[in-house]
Amino acid sequence: MNGTPNFVEQDDPEVWSAVAAEQTRQQDGLEMIASENFTSPAVMQAVGSVLTNKYAEGYPGHRYYGGCEFVDKVEDLARDRLKALFGAEHVNVQPHSGSQANSAVYLTAIQPGDTVLAFDLAHGGHLTHGMKLNSSGIFYRFVHYGVRRDNQLLDFDQIVSLAREHKPKLIVAGASAYPREIPHGRFAEIAREVGAKLLVDMAHYSGLVAAGIHDNPVPVADFVTSTTHKTLRGPRGGIAMCRAENAKALDRSVFPGTQGGPLMHVIAGKAVAFGEALKPEFKRYAQDVVDNARTLAACLASGGVNLVSGGTDNHLMLVDVTPLGIGGKLAEEVLDRCGITCNKNMIPFDSRKPMDPSGIRLGTPALTTRGMGAAEMKQVAAWILRVLKAPSDEQVIATTKGDVAELADQFPVPAAKLEAGRFETASR
Ligand SMILES: *Cc1c(COP(=O)(O)O)cnc(C)c1O
Repeated sequence: MNGTPNFVEQDDPEVWSAVAAEQTRQQDGLEMIASENFTSPAVMQAVGSVLTNKYAEGYPGHRYYGGCEFVDKVEDLARDRLKALFGAEHVNVQPHSGSQANSAVYLTAIQPGDTVLAFDLAHGGHLTHGMKLNSSGIFYRFVHYGVRRDNQLLDFDQIVSLAREHKPKLIVAGASAYPREIPHGRFAEIAREVGAKLLVDMAHYSGLVAAGIHDNPVPVADFVTSTTHKTLRGPRGGIAMCRAENAKALDRSVFPGTQGGPLMHVIAGKAVAFGEALKPEFKRYAQDVVDNARTLAACLASGGVNLVSGGTDNHLMLVDVTPLGIGGKLAEEVLDRCGITCNKNMIPFDSRKPMDPSGIRLGTPALTTRGMGAAEMKQVAAWILRVLKAPSDEQVIATTKGDVAELADQFPVPAAKLEAGRFETASR
């Protein structure tokens, strides 16, 4: 790539200026949105490759278009590596996103109108788990379980009793904002008892599963879905896995059921990312993600905020900021002004409104990928507390912004490794 002109900059400066500004934002700030990460330069180059030009409806060896011999190789590599990563009997690497993967599983496992038992969005679930405006909530009858009021852990008494009462055809486990390890085996037992199929949506924590840190749902679930861009650290996309007996049905549900041509450039990026996740270094990264989350959580808790469930087992934490006399909306805004990016989030049994809930959600994957460790987590926790305790103190905000910039500068984002000129940072 050395010496390659920046064609976007040359031909479309309007678009380039926004891309370059985003690159600068990523480098200069601290990304603490739990669902975000930095994918490698190799993944980015694969996604930016000529494979974007190719139509390949169908599957390797069975395509509706000619000229697929090379993209077949790419998709086979992605499939073989994904199977090896999670020990799955069958995988589909074509879903354009995590949401598409879930749609495909619903289409495979249940009929419109069937009952599904899933985690409540207000307690940490995902919109594809039956939110009323999402196709899942429109086409199927969702019943929701939540966490216990006393310890904010999954309420298995409630899950069992709802399962017995409603006899769902499908039970969905997995979450977007649950800071603890999910016991997949218990869900599998309940599903077996009531004759339901089990989908585990490990979108958030699949990187931890790949590294052997979080329990692997593949042996006990009928279907497992994930995104590829969260802790798994690949390109933006989705995957779906199942037992051999459901392979044909699942493949049909992805294509032609819910999608047309696969994004072969993204599948190339997935293949590269799965290859990275199979390496020993990935285990180190995932362990660091979890260790960093524990350190961050412990520092925050000792500084006067409440952590939902008292802490974290994984890459994220839900922080109730109301003990500091503020809400999640202001917390998100004031941290953003300092260069710390996170999202406001409902906490279980929240008495405040979704647009200004009680909490924020913080995650460590992106900072860990940049190479930050315990010392940086302690530093960042102290800055977060300092700002949240004085949200209208312009001096504190200015000082913190400076501190954040200085720290960020010491930890280049992976994109910085791409040759200058292709992803050149805009002037600060
Ligand atoms: C992020 C997420 C998804 C969907 O991912 P998209 O790629 O944004 O569609 C699905 N399920 C869960 C639990 C998630 O956290």
